[in-house]
Amino acid sequence: MTTNETLQVVNPATGEPITSLPTASADDVAKAAEQARRVHDAGVWSRLPVRERGAVLLRLADLMERDAEILARLDSEDAGKPITECRTGDVPGAIESIRWFAEAADKVFGRLAPSGPDALGLMSREPVGVVAAILPWNYPLAMTAWKVGPALAAGNCLLVKPAEATPRSALHLAALAAEAGLPDGVLTVLPGYGQEAGAALARHPLVGALSFTGSTATGRRILKAAADSNFKRVSLEMGGKSPQVLMADALSYGDDLIDNMIEAAFLTMGQNCTAGSRVLVHRSIAEEVLERFTAAARELVIGDPAHPRTRMGPLINHAAFDRVAGAVEAARAGGAQIHTGGLPHGLPPRGAYYPPTVITRAPDGSDVLTKELFGPVVTVQTFTSEEEAVRRANATEYGLAASVWTRDLDTALRLARGIETGVVSVNAYSEGDITTPFGGWKQSGFGGAEKSTDAFDQWTREKTIWIRTR
Ligand code: NAD
Repeated sequence: MTTNETLQVVNPATGEPITSLPTASADDVAKAAEQARRVHDAGVWSRLPVRERGAVLLRLADLMERDAEILARLDSEDAGKPITECRTGDVPGAIESIRWFAEAADKVFGRLAPSGPDALGLMSREPVGVVAAILPWNYPLAMTAWKVGPALAAGNCLLVKPAEATPRSALHLAALAAEAGLPDGVLTVLPGYGQEAGAALARHPLVGALSFTGSTATGRRILKAAADSNFKRVSLEMGGKSPQVLMADALSYGDDLIDNMIEAAFLTMGQNCTAGSRVLVHRSIAEEVLERFTAAARELVIGDPAHPRTRMGPLINHAAFDRVAGAVEAARAGGAQIHTGGLPHGLPPRGAYYPPTVITRAPDGSDVLTKELFGPVVTVQTFTSEEEAVRRANATEYGLAASVWTRDLDTALRLARGIETGVVSVNAYSEGDITTPFGGWKQSGFGGAEKSTDAFDQWTREKTIWIRTR
């Protein structure tokens, strides 16, 4: 199958086209996979000593540092993300990922089984070969770097399909990798549509491992395609509906608590897989928390993402706006109270701007409580006991992240262990750092984790070599 379609990259803040790119067809994907296989077999990368691979990746990190402003602008323009977020979060995070995995690769060894006096089991880790990454639009460069770093450090040839809306930072990254000395065919970026290029990667028999970040619905399709083709190793990082649990003493953290809550709720306009979209607060402090949180949400500067003071840009597109606005209006019709936000007034006329929105009394089972809205919408619910907090926190099909606020260590640990998510942060909104694994539970994740040395599990295969000694 081939396609003559082009990919229109549009600035979500203005609706203006930025560029149009040729899209990868299923045929292009197949050719890229075959080429990658040839490069892998030639050993120009896979058989390079691991520290030499690391040196290339360290040069790549240096070049990303040189082009940090360009990379920040590409993501900000394509995704509508505030430039300050890209400058201070996404781009430094991406550089750190590449650098960390470049330095970590030679520290991950195989295992030995001391199997008796006359035998030794040697479990070696080997690159998978041709591998693929399919990416979302909300953290284009940062998510790409989480996959490029370990996949390349481990010696694979990687095919990357960026999201339709945000292909440019991945393309620039590939150009920098070439400049850093990465051999041709080791990193190939294939801008294209999910149903065409993405689906072709998921079912291609030469692709031995695929790491996906995106929605749960797409993750399910990819897993089915992998099962129907070659049982490639699949890891899926998907959606979330993450709780922020505030115990009765949480307000002792003062503005730090409120600042973290705001970041959890509204970073990247709430279009964040770990967005803390459900605040669960102890009844004794609910009124004050609601007041301070709502006041802080109203203060967020909404506007042109290119302006350094902007905290909230537009949503990615008008379909996202309709989804968010529809769920909020349905909640309102069902008796919910909107404390701030709701349908926008006085926001820039172009671009799908939606204000930070805080909701209480959302009807049980309503979309604002149960669905990943992927927008700046937060529900606030109360609880009176720790058990109720855990029950509410777990009342979702997702299990990506959670935060817990209390000064009591025992309470924090009981909550952290009771909440069914891949990450629980205590007294912070955080996913940890590059040294800690990140992966969802329940319908938020499947397969291996990202970040940390665990990330190498996805991109390497273990082989047992049984050595008989005589
Ligand atoms: P999406 O699922 O619509 O698209 C993600 C990627 O999959 C895109 O590149 C798309 O082209 C591709 N795709 C679409 N259909 C496909 C198919 N049939 N076969 C193969 N590939 C296909 O998600 P999105 O809207 O780009 O991103 C938002 C979602 O990503 C949210 O649900 C968010 O929670 C999730 N996300 C998760 C994490 C995490 O680490 N858990 C991080 C960021 C985003």
